[in-house]
Amino acid sequence: MVQRARRALRGRLHPALPVEGATLAPGKSIQLIDGFSRRIDYIRVSITDRCNLRCLYCMPKEGMPFKERSELLTFEEIERVVKAFVMAGVSRVRITGGEPLVRKGLPDLVRAVSRLDGVKDLSMTTNAGLLERFAEDLKSAGLRRINISLDSLRHDRFREITRGGDLSTVLRGIDKALDVGLVPVKINMVVMRGINDDELVEFVKFAAKRHIKLRFIECMPLGRIGFLNKEMYMSTEEIAENIAKEYPLSPSAGDGAGPARYYRAEDLGIDVGFISPISQHFCSTCNRVRITAVGKLRLCLGHDEEIDLRSILRSGINEEELLSVILDGIRKKPKGHNFVELSGNVCGEGMSSIGG
Ligand code: SAM
Ligand code: SF4
Repeated sequence: MVQRARRALRGRLHPALPVEGATLAPGKSIQLIDGFSRRIDYIRVSITDRCNLRCLYCMPKEGMPFKERSELLTFEEIERVVKAFVMAGVSRVRITGGEPLVRKGLPDLVRAVSRLDGVKDLSMTTNAGLLERFAEDLKSAGLRRINISLDSLRHDRFREITRGGDLSTVLRGIDKALDVGLVPVKINMVVMRGINDDELVEFVKFAAKRHIKLRFIECMPLGRIGFLNKEMYMSTEEIAENIAKEYPLSPSAGDGAGPARYYRAEDLGIDVGFISPISQHFCSTCNRVRITAVGKLRLCLGHDEEIDLRSILRSGINEEELLSVILDGIRKKPKGHNFVELSGNVCGEGMSSIGG
């Protein structure tokens, strides 16, 4: 089996890697290298396109034409796909959605993925509305840490941005995640001018008080929503300037992982992260690909080109062939996105099916 797979893979590996030494042991010699010499070691897996909220920058008020259950990858299919990526050297896996906590049986999937030899970091992105209920089960199933999306700390405003969400349940979810040790808990706030940009300092204080990692994200013009209005976009520079009026910021190394750049708010003793997909995109060091809820391998958030893994999986493909499709696919990863030029209308299906 290993010999056959080696033959199938010969010539598909990065030229710098020793083909003869390639084995199918997780995380060993095989690496996913794209056409621009970027190593892919991180996958984001969306497990549902459904959500219990309707954030105004992500979904229309009336929701989306959601997929039938049969169109979603089953947990077994997700496990097979993740396993193939892990065979190819991926070690970090993030579960996302839609809202991952609305998919029934999630702890079973977490358990299966966390047991795959080679998965070093298993995390999840959630709106935390159901986290209080599931945090403990997820932790015992093997989830390591959690990112929570939260765009306002004011009850009325939170309800408006999410079109119906309840801030109190989210806050209880955050406390529970800290309690059970899903750490570090990271909070991601999408900053929107005229909507929540007057809460930047409140968020920094909130994070400092609870020892939570905080990242501010530039709003992206994605999906059917695009920018609600162009004025809504705020660059990292502007966000940081506003915070620095109250708490001076100085560059910091942060945790060194991921696309965020960090600044230290010394007065509060914390680092604050900024993710700048528009003003300072990180395409040249991009290390990730996405699996959508319906099993498409999406090579770049800003390009609608996808590879349909679901039909391949359902056609009875074996593990070697699956690996080979993935290795081929990765070579086609685009050099970068062009959100600025397009200013709206990339990600036709929207972030909720791709997973952010
Ligand atoms: N429902 C989960 C949540 O909200 O955390 C996971 C899926 S959601 C699509 C993943 C992330 O994408 C969230 O942090 C959300 O804020 C972010 N997101 C969605 N649309 C966005 C946009 N237009 N610009 C920037 N971030 C966006
Ligand atoms: Fe749902 Fe997350 Fe999109 Fe908000 S950002 S609508 S919580 S999928």
